[in-house]
Amino acid sequence: MPFSYLNDDLLTLEEQGLFRRRRIVESAQGAVIRVDGRDYLSFCSNDYLGLANHPALIDAACRGAAQYGVGSGASHLITGHSEAHHKLELALAELVGFPDALLFSTGYMANMGVVSALLSRNDVVFADKLNHASLNDAVLVSRATMQRYSHLDLVQLEKQLIASKHRRKLVVTDAVFSMDGDIAPVPELLKLCERYDAWLLLDDAHGFGVLGREGKGVLEYFATQSPRIIYMATLGKAAGVFGAYVAGSPELIQMLIQRARTYIYTTAFPPMLANALLASVHLIQEEGWRRQRLQDLAGYLKDHLKLARWKLMPSITPIQPIVIGSNKETLAVSAALMEKGILVPAIRPPTVPKGEARLRISFSAAHSLEDARKLVEALNELEKVI
Ligand SMILES: *Cc1c(COP(=O)(O)O)cnc(C)c1O
Repeated sequence: MPFSYLNDDLLTLEEQGLFRRRRIVESAQGAVIRVDGRDYLSFCSNDYLGLANHPALIDAACRGAAQYGVGSGASHLITGHSEAHHKLELALAELVGFPDALLFSTGYMANMGVVSALLSRNDVVFADKLNHASLNDAVLVSRATMQRYSHLDLVQLEKQLIASKHRRKLVVTDAVFSMDGDIAPVPELLKLCERYDAWLLLDDAHGFGVLGREGKGVLEYFATQSPRIIYMATLGKAAGVFGAYVAGSPELIQMLIQRARTYIYTTAFPPMLANALLASVHLIQEEGWRRQRLQDLAGYLKDHLKLARWKLMPSITPIQPIVIGSNKETLAVSAALMEKGILVPAIRPPTVPKGEARLRISFSAAHSLEDARKLVEALNELEKVI
């Protein structure tokens, strides 16, 4: 059989507790979702602000569909770039305080597009070891040299910058680390980039909409800005829809339009989604209570979780990981929670380092404190019996 050798590999994954399975979801996102005919309290989604099923977004999407249809029909450079896309780019640039912005279909593609449009063989990227996979893949595709520094280790980063003889230098980092929930020290990174003439690519997939008083993300959180920054954020997480954008100087955006292959050689995402996102941008800024709820939920977890062996990581973001260690135990806890009607994903290597398997709790403004109480009660109980 042509693929029989894959069976051995699949069996090995199963034995190592690394086999991945999908769940079939039958409802919209929310505090409660329906999976295989049963309702679960869900702490799995990146829909941090609870906008993925918001009536104003659904209405805007429907109006968008009525005006533009459901498909964009072409790439942005041919005839896929609608008025809704264009308005959204202007609104996003204004929101995050950059001269210009460019939409991509996904965050994965945005990272790929930026790094490979700006860098090539003679260049170098300095990358935090815990960066998202899409940033690592982007560097591989660009063929630039990759130098990774230990998580948040700015001393090591500075040594690497000093030693570099490359033509162009780019420092890339998650702004909020997706599996840890901690925040990159952007002002300090920026100082290093200024001192050693490097660009700084910030992937704010988990900060945009969440951090800062008006949800403008990591730059509002630190009250900082610089023409060296290339800002990337996704629109499928806190913004509740789909897609991503890059914001920066007009030259940067023009160059991406000319050179970013993941922008040029792909279909524009549906204009109806751009319409929904325009509604989302408005709610992100106006409804500060959603961010306050996230703070309250994280505070509740910290104050009420009483764990002896497992470790709640220090995080002020809606990403609240509990490190358990072994793959098997993490899977067992996730399965036991599921029995109790609670969904929390088990995150295993290679997504996180070996021996650091964890539950990744993510909160949403759709959760109540009562939801958090149920989760805490289940975890406090399970740690004693598993
Ligand atoms: C989710 C994520 C991405 C990818 O974004 P998509 O729009 O889902 O492709 C990129 N970077 C980080 C840090 C992410 O968490």
